[in-house]
Amino acid sequence: MVRAERVCKSFGHVEVLKGIDLEVKTGEVFCIVGPSGSGKSTFLRCINHLEKINAGRLYVDGTLVGYREKGGKLYELRDREVSAQRRDIGMVFQRFNLFPHMTAVENVMEAPVQVKRTSKAEARKRATELLDRVGLADKVASYPAQLSGGQQQRVAIARALAMDPKLMLFDEPTSALDPELVGEVLDVMKALARDGMTMVVVTHEMGFAREVGDSLVFMDGGVVVESGDPKDVLGNPQHERTKSFLSKVL
Ligand code: ATP
Ligand code: MG
Repeated sequence: MVRAERVCKSFGHVEVLKGIDLEVKTGEVFCIVGPSGSGKSTFLRCINHLEKINAGRLYVDGTLVGYREKGGKLYELRDREVSAQRRDIGMVFQRFNLFPHMTAVENVMEAPVQVKRTSKAEARKRATELLDRVGLADKVASYPAQLSGGQQQRVAIARALAMDPKLMLFDEPTSALDPELVGEVLDVMKALARDGMTMVVVTHEMGFAREVGDSLVFMDGGVVVESGDPKDVLGNPQHERTKSFLSKVL
């Protein structure tokens, strides 16, 4: 579903991604862990072309992200083409980023109505079903300010699902939450994984990675240091840097 080949990204002179190679298979939960500043968010943002890569190739579902290749050269896609690519990729951030002036159901139906031109009645029906799926059937009419962080994050997940993405990206979706609210969001993500969604999850929740993850990479300094089955990498890390990181977070 996602293939990265020697992906590099710099901001000015600072090289943040130094040749990332990885493959996310369809239907798997792919976890990315690593210290602050290692480039995890930057890599996620490259997957939907919120950041443009400087070298290498990045494919989603077999299609080059953000560029068209012709005669060995890359040409940037037009905004409209980039938007079309992004439509298939749902993203959930650390902060919930809901529209504050809209109710939960309005937040979830917004993109289908605005972007896909779905009828309001149909979008509302679907949004209600999605909110039910994330355990918020009784909160459809609530505004974000009336919801807990965990509830807001579940609305954000429902909102991403409303576009029927083939891939979901999560950037530390629980790290802004009070500890007692983390579980409810992880449970929704677990259910999503069971339903076969392909997910790339940047997380510090090692329990989740171990239990739900199919693959895991440990990133440090813009490179993949170690990768494999989460149980192996977390349980029996091979590299000093992985060991040292895990000894701090586990
Ligand atoms: P964290 O765990 O703290 O979220 P991260 O692994 O997600 O860290 P990134 O946010 O990808 O790390 O940042 C990697 C490096 O890139 C950092 O040194 C950061 O300062 C730098 N960086 C990220 N975005 C930009 C930007 N827009 N302009 C300049 N530098 C940036
Ligand atoms: Mg980050």
